Amino acid sequence: MHAEPDLETSLLGPVLADRVCGECMACCTILTVNTPEFKKPAGTPCEHLTSNGCGIHAVRPPICRSWFCAWRRVASMPDEARPDRSGLLVSLNFEREPRNCFEGVSVSVRKLPGSDAIESGMAAIVLDSLCDGLVPVWFSDGSKKMLMHPDPEVAGLVLSGESAPSHLQDEVAAWREQYGVFAASDGTG
Ligand code: SF4
Ligand code: SF4
Repeated sequence: MHAEPDLETSLLGPVLADRVCGECMACCTILTVNTPEFKKPAGTPCEHLTSNGCGIHAVRPPICRSWFCAWRRVASMPDEARPDRSGLLVSLNFEREPRNCFEGVSVSVRKLPGSDAIESGMAAIVLDSLCDGLVPVWFSDGSKKMLMHPDPEVAGLVLSGESAPSHLQDEVAAWREQYGVFAASDGTG
């Protein structure tokens, strides 16, 4: 959990008035929190988490007040994609030492432990709703992460600097313009 409110608003959109967390507590367990005021490791329920939600809601840390998963912001994601219902937690991810231009700032789609989101088709629906802009999208199934957007051919051309075939020229140029010039690098799988 890492809040960059301005960047999150510009890339994902503002928090939607008609989306509420309800019984969902996914982020309070799944994510790392590393702020001066409050820290917790990934994959571990927060020490303040109770069966009724946050036990210190009225005085919860600033990060918990300002951070929202993508489902709370992205209108194109279906209503049924709330993390506790879909088994998918989607958020903006920031890598301090990215291996390539697709890792620095990206949308991360995490399959939650025990989730059947791949088998049910929900993962495909959610990915479809996210993979249409100039923000990279990664999918993590718990054991590995995969770049889902842009597709491998476009990603390879963006990273290699090679000339793109005519049907991909506009798309490759748009990604290159968005992310500038990057060294060729592996790490898209
Ligand atoms: S994962 Fe999203 S919907 Fe669930 S509690 Fe966190 S912010 Fe709310
Ligand atoms: S302090 Fe409350 S809102 Fe923040 S992670 Fe812990 S349980 Fe969740």
